[in-house]
Amino acid sequence: MKTLPSNITLNVVTIAPIEEAIRNTFIDILKDYTSRSGKKLTKKKVTVGIAFIEDSAEGMDGTLGTSFDGDNRIMVQVRDPYMDEDAPEENDYTTLMLLSVLSHELVHVCQYLTNSPGIPHKIKYNKKDPFESYFFGERELEARILEPLYVQKYAYKNFKELTLQREILDEDER
Ligand SMILES: [Zn+2]
Repeated sequence: MKTLPSNITLNVVTIAPIEEAIRNTFIDILKDYTSRSGKKLTKKKVTVGIAFIEDSAEGMDGTLGTSFDGDNRIMVQVRDPYMDEDAPEENDYTTLMLLSVLSHELVHVCQYLTNSPGIPHKIKYNKKDPFESYFFGERELEARILEPLYVQKYAYKNFKELTLQREILDEDER
């Protein structure tokens, strides 16, 4: 079993039993990211939470994943297309998207854990425009560069034998 550094706790919440695959993907990416960048991991105790949420979740317009860096707590949300009532049959295209979003968000987690600014660049963009600022942000650019590499190198392998689709048997709302 792969192990995380002892100061990092990982909690995973998904409807499909894929905790181990997510955990292993996180460990693989964290190892790759720190060795490739030479950046040092924080020594602080940090709790990382990763939740696969309903694809139709509100408040995530046009975004498939988000990560939040709080005080020693990092929270990641990934939209799970296989969780919805009208979910598509499990297929390679949708799975690639899901694993890409996961890998992308995990790069952001690595950035938080190493206090990395991302990749400096000289591309011109409108700093007053929130969309451009996000899109050309140094962390965002780094996450986008590493995302396909990490999907191919790690996520695919860890999820290979797994079925991601789950039938929701019951759903209650408040
Ligand atoms: Zn991002």
